[in-house]
Amino acid sequence: MSTPTITHVRAFTVRGGGADYHDQDHGHWIDDHIATPMSKYPEYRQSRQTFGLNVLGTLVVEIEASSGEVGFAVTTGGDIGAWIVEKHLARFVEGQKVTDIEKMWDQMFNGSLFYGRKGIVLNAISGVDLALWDLLGKVRQEPVYHLLGGAVRDELQFYATGARPDLAQQMGFIGGKLPLHHGPAEGEEGLRKNLELLADMRQRVGDDFWLMYDCWMSLDVNYATRLAQKAQEFGLKWIEEALPPDDYWGYAELRRNVPKGMLVTTGEHEATRWGFRMLLEMGCCDIIQPDVGWCGGITELIKISALADAHNALVVPHGSSVYSYHFVITRHNSPFAEFLMMAPQADKVVPMFNPLLLDEPVPVNGRMKVPDRPGFGVRLNPDCALTRPYSR
Ligand SMILES: [Mg+2]
Repeated sequence: MSTPTITHVRAFTVRGGGADYHDQDHGHWIDDHIATPMSKYPEYRQSRQTFGLNVLGTLVVEIEASSGEVGFAVTTGGDIGAWIVEKHLARFVEGQKVTDIEKMWDQMFNGSLFYGRKGIVLNAISGVDLALWDLLGKVRQEPVYHLLGGAVRDELQFYATGARPDLAQQMGFIGGKLPLHHGPAEGEEGLRKNLELLADMRQRVGDDFWLMYDCWMSLDVNYATRLAQKAQEFGLKWIEEALPPDDYWGYAELRRNVPKGMLVTTGEHEATRWGFRMLLEMGCCDIIQPDVGWCGGITELIKISALADAHNALVVPHGSSVYSYHFVITRHNSPFAEFLMMAPQADKVVPMFNPLLLDEPVPVNGRMKVPDRPGFGVRLNPDCALTRPYSR
């Protein structure tokens, strides 16, 4: 049997909810006074959209093979991501065999090294990489997790990220991760409010349910240390992304400072094996949280995960929907997964990339069997209007 080759790469953008899950309407919990590095400016404190968290929008990468199959993937990237895919990355993909993902990744990364390395370029590379895995799965008629070595457990179990851990508990999740609302600029009163919310949730969910705080890069070492020490009383399981991603030294110090048994986690804004090497070798955290659509895709995540394994760190990807599910089910060092509660009031389970994907699986009673459909097992919703800004 001859191996199909890749005939076309196409990049599209979409507005509204999707892979850019921050692109939500007014009144959503995900944009309600969440602490950020911009919270020191009062005018940007109430809403992350005011400083442009949703400027990028969703990027859709579609890759077509000579055999007629089409693979696709979605990530955050919008127009600028589409430009990188069409004008630069496509040359390393078109004409190649559908099997040669490792070579294509290496060429995309090294070919863009002079302006890439992290950020939007890695989002774009991730989008192409995930579309290649989807395509290979469709050509082989197998789910991606089969191609990654197969499942190591029967099903995934999830914790929920959102404003209502108490409701997540009723829905069967193993834990709930709250957004931190107040940063250092809001002083002692803000710190007190952060602790009051945690205390209230602890009282609602009882002793055994996991509670975590996601700090979205908003703190400094001193504030994060004080928060962690005071939050121990309320059983905080981990403190997530407390510091800006470049402050590896701060993370190492914070990890030494937190109460014994409390975990430090980070990595959703980190990319590639080299970025995660810094976090792991410097002892920055107990759990790394790569976003599969931002860290370099599954090809790179395999390497990141192996590195983490050798450092006794867990790998629990940030969000990432099906791209996380197909990976996590194949890894011993990924014992649970994250589910983002995308209902505006975090009061019910809706698909993470709603409404962009069809057949996107969701946890039931906090658990999920990864579907056995070819590729990542999802389809683009034809009701979401795609734009191709840079057709060739
Ligand atoms: Mg986070």
